[in-house]
Parts: sequence; structure tokens; C-alpha cells
Amino acid sequence: MTDLLWLWILLGVVVVVGGGAALLVPRSRRRRLDEQVDRRDEGTTTVAPAPGRPAPEAAAAEPEVAEPAAPALETPEPVAGRLVRLRDRLARSGSPLGARLLSVLSRDHLTEDDWEELEETLLLADIGAGPAEELLEALRTRVRVLGVRDPKTVRDLLREELLKVVDPALDREVATTGPVGEDGTRLPAVVLVVGVNGTGKTTTVGKLARVLVAEDRSVVLGAADTFRAAAADQLQTWGARVGVETVRSDRDGADPAAVAFDAVRRGKTEGTDVVLVDTAGRLQNKAGLMDELGKITRVITREAPLAEVLLVLDATTGQNGLNQARVFGEVAGVTGIVLTKLDGTARGGIVVAVQRELGVPVKLVGLGEGPDDLAPFDPEEFVDGLLG
Ligand code: GDP
Repeated sequence: MTDLLWLWILLGVVVVVGGGAALLVPRSRRRRLDEQVDRRDEGTTTVAPAPGRPAPEAAAAEPEVAEPAAPALETPEPVAGRLVRLRDRLARSGSPLGARLLSVLSRDHLTEDDWEELEETLLLADIGAGPAEELLEALRTRVRVLGVRDPKTVRDLLREELLKVVDPALDREVATTGPVGEDGTRLPAVVLVVGVNGTGKTTTVGKLARVLVAEDRSVVLGAADTFRAAAADQLQTWGARVGVETVRSDRDGADPAAVAFDAVRRGKTEGTDVVLVDTAGRLQNKAGLMDELGKITRVITREAPLAEVLLVLDATTGQNGLNQARVFGEVAGVTGIVLTKLDGTARGGIVVAVQRELGVPVKLVGLGEGPDDLAPFDPEEFVDGLLG
């Protein structure tokens, strides 16, 4: 009887201590993980393997492997020729900026009305009041001093002054080489892509992956826009076309930081050159945006530093785009701007305005919906495009 009693007491102790421990361990671990990612999203990311390559054995947090349909791999266009296309596209977009400026500048005697007309033209092209004034001041002085009227010289003058406000001295290279880690191996260059939904973020990530593939760089995509249901599918399709893996979540509305974290992990374990992370860009309040991007950044930088934060802006949105730039500039530590839909606007001046607003260069421009319609921004080609 006493033996039986002791046995019951012993069992009770084991259950209480064991149960307590079982509850305690996950809770303390959860506390650690909460700092990193939403625990519900642990293990919910999948790696959509690049077609034509073996399915990965395991991504971070043991994700499942989604087998995509294997389309034939595409070969992206070389990047070099795209610069010329930028000029052609701009010229064809019917940009009246250069033509209008030139027609006024070649008038016989430039009156105050003419100078006002020039200013109006520049402002209508979204160049911004400050840069417009600078440009006109410089032109006035030079036109007066030189007293020139012949179209060629006027054009050259205007070209030079436009180029100055676009600022050819800025470093426009997208950082795609990661640093060397503590263990001596090179970390992936992590490029975070931010911006309001609809500006062309996901498309830009897809196009940029193609640019990198064309340059023989290995890429992993992170579908951290978990807010818009179709975004991950869209991104995965872009990746699959050029044999690039996409790390994504199975759950709509999953923690974007969890996906970003897994993507960077994946890039590290695979020795990938570049990890491109697409994010959601809800036009929510600034505090919400700051929280979300802040958490993504903190979680990523535990694995690898951010090489680049690219802000995607729609060139056709004018002042609205500038307001967005301001907000993202304050919360996201933007290092470069991608100006999309430049093919759909005659207001190329936004390039100048947005650079001034954020103090960071436009690095890439979107010139259409085609897969290779993304070009490195080149000030000279741009100005030539404006002048037609
Ligand atoms: P996201 O919500 O910011 O990820 O935007 P998406 O990448 O889904 O793009 C929104 C729309 O803009 C799509 O129809 C794209 O094809 C289009 N788009 C993106 N970049 C460009 C561009 O450079 N030119 C033009 N004309 N359309 C573009």
C-alpha cells in the first residue's frame, strides 16, 4: 500500500515538473523568436526551386518545397544595349520638355515672358522649383554673356545645364556584392525593395533578377509582400522564367520579416550573390510602415547587412510620388531610387525632384512592362532623351 502511495507521489512529481518544463521551454524560446519573427510563420515558408535545378533539400526552418511547373528558361537581354533604349523610349514618349525649352530659347530676343514660359515648362515637367530656378539662372547668365542664338549652341548650353541638375557625379551603381563575413565567406548582397503598392515593386524585383542573371550573378528572391495575395505567385513566376528560386510563405498575411529572414538564410546557405527582398507597401500610417520595415531590417541584418534599400516610385504620380518618397526616405534608409513607368510620362523632371528630395540617386528606371524594360539610369542618355 505504501509502495503504491510512493509510486503515485513519484508520478505526480514527474508530471508536474515535466509539464512545467514542457511549457517553460517553448515560452522562453518563443520570447527569443518574437524578437525575430512571428512564430506562427516558423516553417511556413517554402522554397520554389529554380526550374532545371535540383529541389533544395531544406531551407531555413525546414520549409516544404513547392514544385513549380518548369517553363523553358529565358535568356535575359544584355544590359548594355538598354541605355540606348532609354533614350529612344524617352524620345518616343513624346516628351515635349526639351523641344519646348529649345523653341523658346531660340527666339530672337528673350523677354521676361519667355523666361517665365521656360520656368513654367520646367515646373510642368515636375523638375521642382529649386532646380528650375538654378537651371534658368545659369542659362540666363550664359545666354547673356555669350549672346548666342544658333540652335546648336543653344542646345549644347541647355544640355549642359540640364545635366548639371541631374547630377552626373552621383554614384548610381546598385550594390550587388556582399561583404565578407566573420568566417571568411562572402555574404550575399541583400537588396530590400520598398515602395507603395502599384508602383511596380514586384515587377522591378523580377526585372532586376533578370539583369543580375544576365550578368551571371546568382539570385534568391524573397516574397515578403505577404499582404497582397498574388504578389508571391507573381514574383515566383518572374524567378522561374530565369531559373531563380523564390522563398515565400504558404500563409496569406504571414509575417513578412519571417519570409525575409528565411530568404537571406537561404542565400547564405546557398552562397548566393544577391538576395532581393520584395516588401508590401501599404499606404498605412507612418508608424505602421516604420514598424514593419524596421522589423524586416532588424531581422535581416542579424544574418547579413543590407547592401541596398531601393525605393520604387511611379514616375507618373508627380507630387504624390514625392510625398511617398519623403515618408519612405524617413523610415527606410533609402540608398537608391527606381523610377518606374518613365515610358508613360512626358514629365521626366521628376528624376531631378526626387533626387533632391531624398538626397539619393535614381539608380534604375522602368521603361515598360516587358521583362527587360529596366535600365541602369544614365544622366547623359536621359538628358539626350529629354532633348529628343
Ligand atoms: P507592386 O504592387 O508595386 O508590386 O506593382 P507591380 O509590380 O504589380 O506593378 C503594377 C503595374 O505596373 C503592373 O501592371 C506592371 O506591369 C506595371 N509596371 C511596372 N513597371 C512598369 C514600367 O516601367 N512601365 C510601365 N508602363 N508599366 C510598369
